[in-house]
Amino acid sequence: MRAMILERCGAPLTLKDVPAPKIGPNDALIRVRVCGVGLTVVSMIATRGRITSFPRIPGHEIAGEVVEIGSEVRTVKVGSRVTNHYYLTCGNCRYCRSGRETLCENLRGNVGSGCDGGYAEYVALPERNLVPVPDGVTDLEASVASDAIATPYHACHKEAQISPGDDVLIIGAGGGVGIHMVQMARLCGARVIAAEVGEEKLELARRMGADQLIDARRGEFVKQVKALTGGRGVDAAIDMVANSETLQASLASLAPGGRMVIIGSRPKAVFGADPVFTVNPHEHLRQAQEIHGSRYVNNEEIMRTLQLVKQKRIQAVVNRHFSAGRGRAGARAATEERDCGPRGAHRRIM
Ligand SMILES: [Zn+2]
Repeated sequence: MRAMILERCGAPLTLKDVPAPKIGPNDALIRVRVCGVGLTVVSMIATRGRITSFPRIPGHEIAGEVVEIGSEVRTVKVGSRVTNHYYLTCGNCRYCRSGRETLCENLRGNVGSGCDGGYAEYVALPERNLVPVPDGVTDLEASVASDAIATPYHACHKEAQISPGDDVLIIGAGGGVGIHMVQMARLCGARVIAAEVGEEKLELARRMGADQLIDARRGEFVKQVKALTGGRGVDAAIDMVANSETLQASLASLAPGGRMVIIGSRPKAVFGADPVFTVNPHEHLRQAQEIHGSRYVNNEEIMRTLQLVKQKRIQAVVNRHFSAGRGRAGARAATEERDCGPRGAHRRIM
């Protein structure tokens, strides 16, 4: 089969012919139709220690069709359309059993780092990672839903705890995950304040349902948020960029009782510095604010997300397609976009 191969940490991806993967008794073999390209892949490739062995095939947002199943597999069959959860979990620890599998005590890494991923014609995945794709949802939509829409589902519902009437600030609202965050926050009943850099992304955020726009280049960011909320601040601030400046601004933008949600990840290996920000414990306590780390989703949240896509209540937004063998160009584009601001929305079709 053809696959994009990473020979060592930081090396360019190369298109090669390699044997198709063999499956174990608890695995399924998937013919890949679509696989996402985004900053998560860039981070996985660039961060030493994330990839457990080389050569490795990256790619974690997969949609395709089951073509073979192991002897113990019960929940999918040959011909099933599936997407995937991208954490390689144990299924048995206290976190896995309570629906918080991203905190698995026996995590074996991620699809595309701990095992080969979807930049290939075929991928072997554990049955536990597979989520059936309902009729009426395309492969492209399913691939986007598995991470870029599911992550906002968890962030808005579980972490930001949005109620109808809340004012919600989204920083990096025009990026690949941010643009779905705008839609999801709106679906939860929020008045959405979208912050971005540049007219094009702000306009996209507006088209996807943002009620108010803030161009971060204009400066006095917190002042702008306060002006839009009658001086009160927002009930939730969801930070997709998560550098030192945006994190500090997110916290300062909160109303009393507000929730700050950190989603963006800026690993030092990719961005050159660890993002840090300061919390004043006295103010934090006095205003009873909350800081949440939002880490991906559980399987059930992917299922719910796919239903929202099927019901046309969330639109999968894709801004570029790459054909097989162009994964390197996709990865480069995602990095370039993120360097200038929030993450991009690049998807690649095999
Ligand atoms: Zn576990």
